[in-house]
Amino acid sequence: LSSKPTQALVAEEIKKIKVGDVKGLPRAVKVNTSVYDAVVTMFLEDVGTLMVVDNEGYLEGVVSRKDLLKAAIGGGDLQKMPVSVVMTRMPNIICTTSDETVLTAARKMIEHEVDALPVVRPVEGQEKKVEVIGRLTKTTITRLFVELGEGGR
Ligand code: ADP
Repeated sequence: LSSKPTQALVAEEIKKIKVGDVKGLPRAVKVNTSVYDAVVTMFLEDVGTLMVVDNEGYLEGVVSRKDLLKAAIGGGDLQKMPVSVVMTRMPNIICTTSDETVLTAARKMIEHEVDALPVVRPVEGQEKKVEVIGRLTKTTITRLFVELGEGGR
């Protein structure tokens, strides 16, 4: 039996968990979606961050609650304003991949002060484009934490 301290064992176990093991479904809207419809989608889907994709489904940006609130207090016509005006756009989006460890992805969320990361994969033959295949959020990490704490994983 190993004489390693418990903490080291816990760390080892955590490092084995990949984003692909815990990621959720991507929640996306098209770039030409209005700010108004993005707000409605956020309520209906019960999420705080929406991925914004182009017509082919490739990642263009991310829109968060604060982005939409900013638009709302700005006084424009929210039914006419596209989310592309208020979103954070590529290449400034912090992403993760299925084979990255959850620990690394969580560190990215802390460092960049964001609540969610799109899980992406490269598109063959299109160097700058990525496809959104999932979503990792602080809720995902909290759920994992509880599972680990309760010994269910
Ligand atoms: P909230 O607005 O609900 O507090 P965040 O803290 O995640 O949500 O978002 C803060 C800012 O960071 C917003 O302007 C948002 O567009 C941007 N943002 C959110 N997620 C990402 C990401 N993965 N990569 C880059 N920017 C992001």
